Amino acid sequence: MSDDAANDRASSGDSIPGDAGDDGTGDDGADVERRTEGAFATRAVRAGHSPDAQTGAHAPPIYQTASFLLRSVEHGSRLRADDPARDTYSRAGNPTVREAEAKLAALEGTAEAVAFASGMGAITALFLSVLRQGDEVLTLGPIYSDTRAVLWELLPAFGITARRVEASELDSAIASNTRLIYVETPSNPTLAIIDLAAVAGAARRHGLLTAADNTFASPYLTRPAEHGIEFVVHSATKYLGGHGDLLAGFVTGNGDELERVRSVGLRLGGASLEPHAAFLLMRGMRTLHLRMAAHCRNAGAVARALETAPGVSRVHYPGLEDHSGHDVATRQMSDFGGMVAVDFAGGRASATRFVERLELFDHAVSLGDVCSLACVSSTTTHASVPPEERARDGITDGLVRLSVGVEDEADLVADVLAAAAAAA
Ligand SMILES: *Cc1c(COP(=O)(O)O)cnc(C)c1O
Repeated sequence: MSDDAANDRASSGDSIPGDAGDDGTGDDGADVERRTEGAFATRAVRAGHSPDAQTGAHAPPIYQTASFLLRSVEHGSRLRADDPARDTYSRAGNPTVREAEAKLAALEGTAEAVAFASGMGAITALFLSVLRQGDEVLTLGPIYSDTRAVLWELLPAFGITARRVEASELDSAIASNTRLIYVETPSNPTLAIIDLAAVAGAARRHGLLTAADNTFASPYLTRPAEHGIEFVVHSATKYLGGHGDLLAGFVTGNGDELERVRSVGLRLGGASLEPHAAFLLMRGMRTLHLRMAAHCRNAGAVARALETAPGVSRVHYPGLEDHSGHDVATRQMSDFGGMVAVDFAGGRASATRFVERLELFDHAVSLGDVCSLACVSSTTTHASVPPEERARDGITDGLVRLSVGVEDEADLVADVLAAAAAAA
């Protein structure tokens, strides 16, 4: 697949605030403009950075500084108004971080992105920026366990509530105080798929905001803004960074509300991305298209091999035809992603033997790393989710989540088959 598929669906023409001309290169912006309009691979490699005019440095400089010189006492307070590209303090803005924001916005096809120190920093900042006391959030399908804890355990103390509803009854479930529909697709860990265009349609009919966590797909596979979703959030710790060596997050979108995410969620929440992490993140994003193509190829092979392995009761992968979200995934994603969940009939004991026997999959949480990773969902990522919710979402004690890396496909397939045989 799927470079072409991704490229064909690439949106074009969104200029990137904070990019063209902001870097002091005197660049007329034409180069930058072309890079942001190119196909996905071109944007991944090129968008967001112009070589440093002062030094000629080709790679992005790391502006490791807390503050920036004020030009004068009178102009200090007016500095940002006079020159929005000029920073005063790195919590609110930093040139290295801005380059990472510009690259992500170019990949998602959105006007602007705001970077954060982690995915949870981004998600919590979004909620605090757009929700008020009395507001309600609707979710569809499973969501990341810590996001769930923010919505059901933290925000109620501030008079904000959340309710999970079925996709089929979304229109009738919307109440007078519903403000935001929040979804995650594919979801963690069973890869449930949400129809983003349907969510955006319902929100438009009722005048609601929408947000989608695009961590599992990455913009290489799905760009929720193209389906009408207002805010796209990311744990950039995962596929965007891609190497398991940093924490980062984003909120991105096109609307005016994004300015509030920056001025309230980022500036007051204070979960700002470090310049050095922003540099590593940009380096990761440059190869997103190459890594995702390999993740998808390997995950598809692993999923198909496990389907007929002994002791396996179910394989969850949106690329398999028996997956409940297969049809929507085929419409909404350009390939099926790098995550696979496998359910063992022998429960926790079999899942444990499988994870212990794997050699090429490190036993660790997180995902989207070039290295393959495996964990037992019920004891790790979903340990804090009440058992009845786990049961509803198919998170059995025998469920193992695989983040399939970019090692050799045949080696990975051999490894999971040997481990499944040992577990059975
Ligand atoms: C990891 C993850 C998060 C949280 O991101 P951090 O970078 O760990 O804070 C949010 N959503 C999803 C889907 C995730 O996988």
